[in-house]
Amino acid sequence: MELSKETLASPTSRLAPSPTGDLHLGNVRTFLLNWSLGRNLGWNLILRHEDLDANRASLEQIETIESSMGWLGIDWDGPSIRQSEDLVPYREAMDRLATRRMVFRSSLSRREIRDALNAPHTGGELRFPSSLRPTPGEAWSFSDESTGHRFAMPPGIETVEDELQGEDRFDPAEETGDPVVWTREGRPAYQLAVVVDDHEHGVTDVLRGEDLLPSAARQQRLARALDFESAPRWWHVPLVTDGDGRRLAKRDGDRGLHGYMSAGVTASRIIGLLAYRSGLQDMRRPMGIDRFRRLVDRAALEALVVRERECPCRVLDEDHHWLVSCNA
Ligand code: GLU
Repeated sequence: MELSKETLASPTSRLAPSPTGDLHLGNVRTFLLNWSLGRNLGWNLILRHEDLDANRASLEQIETIESSMGWLGIDWDGPSIRQSEDLVPYREAMDRLATRRMVFRSSLSRREIRDALNAPHTGGELRFPSSLRPTPGEAWSFSDESTGHRFAMPPGIETVEDELQGEDRFDPAEETGDPVVWTREGRPAYQLAVVVDDHEHGVTDVLRGEDLLPSAARQQRLARALDFESAPRWWHVPLVTDGDGRRLAKRDGDRGLHGYMSAGVTASRIIGLLAYRSGLQDMRRPMGIDRFRRLVDRAALEALVVRERECPCRVLDEDHHWLVSCNA
């Protein structure tokens, strides 16, 4: 999609949902914080649907997300973008990496990697070490886009400067190894797509969940390999958890935003609950989105990060009952 020069010249952020299920209250909080800070600081806000996972993303979900955002009062600038609409920029990036011999063909499954490494099944992220790279030759190209490719992660420490979390050091080659940049299904993979899109759309500020902080290191490396002048400024915010301290996930069916909307819960109740659980008000009561926005500035986010390091934001069963009891 073409963005106007004006959009590209101003600070720009993006809301980047994956349309693979209903939004949960954790996604909603991150979007509310991103939207509030962005609107207060005069950023452009792009809505980008990360729908490259053709097996899980659906048009129906995209429509649901947009109507849920509108219902909450979250708006964005210009038409929304779907990553799957145009694969050309991702192919070009792959070609560029291939010219530099920085990507290689590899369709090894998780199991095959585990077996090759004799590694236990931990369920966590699996490291792809340089020892499993193919020998120099034909595999170091991007001539067959129907197969998986990985980026040869350069060794060494990568420092991530985060506006809220401070400085963090990662060693991506040691920690996670060579990331997938093109999937076995023949699509751009998350790490590549994010880097290409953030660059293409002139994104200067990324506010997202802190589970993606280690990805920032990989994305900086990829951006550099592609000669993109600079990575965006990062603002990683803590995740919302449930009463057992587990982060909220899409599987929490009846606790999804659409579920609440269908149950007649009002947007101001959702926003008020999240404001309360984020320490922005001292009791559970409804709050309009404009009031929420006025409470969110850099200092409030810095305080939130410090507070939630000690005591994570939790949404409890009693909160769920408070939300749905509004109709009682
Ligand atoms: N689509 C990702 C998610 O829903 C966000 C990716 C990003 O912000 O870089 O978690």
